[in-house]
Amino acid sequence: MTAAEAKAAFEDLVSRCGLRYTERTRRYVGIYEGVCFDVALFQQCIQLNAIAPAAVINSQILEDFSGFTHVKNSGVPTTWIRGVRGETGNHPNQVEMELTPQRLERLTEKQFFDLPTNLIQDFRAFGAEPTIPHCGVCGTAVPNTLMMIDNHYVPACENCLARVRDEAAVGELQDTAPVQWTYAVPALLVGASLYTLLWGGMQQIAIPAKLLLVGPFFAAIMFSVAVVSFAGGTSFLLRMLTAAATVAAVLAGNIWGTRTLVEKQFQELVSWEEATRIYFELRLFQHQQEGYFLIGGLAGAWLGSRMAKEATRVRVD
Ligand SMILES: [Zn+2]
Repeated sequence: MTAAEAKAAFEDLVSRCGLRYTERTRRYVGIYEGVCFDVALFQQCIQLNAIAPAAVINSQILEDFSGFTHVKNSGVPTTWIRGVRGETGNHPNQVEMELTPQRLERLTEKQFFDLPTNLIQDFRAFGAEPTIPHCGVCGTAVPNTLMMIDNHYVPACENCLARVRDEAAVGELQDTAPVQWTYAVPALLVGASLYTLLWGGMQQIAIPAKLLLVGPFFAAIMFSVAVVSFAGGTSFLLRMLTAAATVAAVLAGNIWGTRTLVEKQFQELVSWEEATRIYFELRLFQHQQEGYFLIGGLAGAWLGSRMAKEATRVRVD
């Protein structure tokens, strides 16, 4: 097939199998004869994923799918079929094929046309059922489409697809991984200490005032994102604690900066208590920039936690 023929053949496959277009991933998904398909045409390359929920094809991965006899007999090399790795080993019921322009050139239109049916027949030989009995969301309706929830395939009915999609669109669906406090607390403490060292340290050396103003902001974003990634999740309490730790770190850094400044000015040593008193009684209210530092830190903490929360949002296609 030429590139143009392959494009036409791809479009034919999409409509013949009743696949629907997914906006975000720019792929086509659906269920055809009891097998889930997820296909895409990118830069003249056709990607094809097929998932048959009840099938077990692990043994075939090591044998280059030589047991997929329908595909083999049609003249399509089964070495083009590959297993798909998941988080815990290979998916037992999923295969993928990447049909590059070179491979498509070797295929006839008939071979490509027959490919879905041949794959389905071969999946059946390894336990696939002719239909998928239940929607993976409500568990009752017959699924008639394929949903992608955070890159996981879920056969679903149309009602569930519409409902879950709406919930995800307004941000109701969150990946509700619980906060691992045994990691979150050390991350907060270590992060706040580093923040203080960095921020206080910046004030020990001559740094342009403008750069100094954005320091607390960017440090707070990094701090916030780091805490969430160590905690493995986020919650309101964790976000509040992060904001509080940010303010504490900015204040501590400022007190350190004040101490150095006063020591330089008066050429004598100043105790930490004295520096703290000077900072709160004099500098904090007299110097506008001190307020900006705190606002910058809080804004960074807020933005960082928003980013972290956004990252836990479930995506549905
Ligand atoms: Zn359903």
